Amino acid sequence: MLETAQDTDNDKAPPPESDRRNAPPLLTVRNVDFWYGEKQALFDVNLDVYPGEVVCLMGPSGCGKTTLLRLLNRMQDDVPGARMTGEIVFDGQDINDPKLDVVMLRRRFGWVAQKPNPFPKSVRENIAYGPRIHSIVDEGPDMDLHVEDCLRRAQAWDELKDRLGDNAIDLSGGQQQRLCIARALSIRPDMLLMDEPCASIDPIATTAIEELILELKEHVPVVIITHSMAQARRLADRVAFFHLGRLLESGPADRFFNHPKTLQTRRYLMGAFG
Ligand code: ADP
Ligand code: MG
Repeated sequence: MLETAQDTDNDKAPPPESDRRNAPPLLTVRNVDFWYGEKQALFDVNLDVYPGEVVCLMGPSGCGKTTLLRLLNRMQDDVPGARMTGEIVFDGQDINDPKLDVVMLRRRFGWVAQKPNPFPKSVRENIAYGPRIHSIVDEGPDMDLHVEDCLRRAQAWDELKDRLGDNAIDLSGGQQQRLCIARALSIRPDMLLMDEPCASIDPIATTAIEELILELKEHVPVVIITHSMAQARRLADRVAFFHLGRLLESGPADRFFNHPKTLQTRRYLMGAFG
């Protein structure tokens, strides 16, 4: 039997700004079980995400981190045989409510994948496409400003302002990933979901992206999967630690790293598995 130590009401990290102190969670995951066909991948997961914070999902490969992240914006809908029970509430709405418009829901999340995956189109078009099809920004001068703003927020403007017409696949890996972050921001998401966004880029590009995440979180909370303990220490307000599909421990990052509650977490932190 595994120990579990999930959040109680008393053990949330304080919201970063005083005016958020009483803010309700933006996202609530309650008693979620999930199956791929016969195979159960998540067991009774409970997690909250508050405005203004970075939540790091950690744990050994195959423990269900990506599965959970993909559930949050209903990307698992596309997987045949996928089935969930429990409840996920985003901004007061049950995301599985049959009346909910899934396209609108997905638009509220920015998604950044492990491997940079820009469209094989111009830098500008990578950013302009989403806002154009969702009628968020008009094409023309407004879009030029929006493209600039998104690239600035992704700390990529200085490097890319003279390359707006270049094909994105000709950029370096780090530039591509920042472009993908700019693209994720372009639809004005309410939450960013990042699945090991620094796994395939170099340390300097990683530092730039970490700084960016810390800046962005004030306006857009971030749920990020990372295998890097150092990265989680730098970024996380709260950590959720998974093992074999169960959320074993979640709570403030300080406590997670300094006073882990479960044996599995202690072993993971000591590098005994992972
Ligand atoms: P993590 O991201 O923590 O490495 P995943 O969420 O990708 O783990 O996977 C959790 C479990 O679900 C693993 O056992 C994996 O093999 C399984 N799994 C992931 N995706 C699928 C899928 N599309 N179909 C069937 N099983 C899957
Ligand atoms: Mg994964």
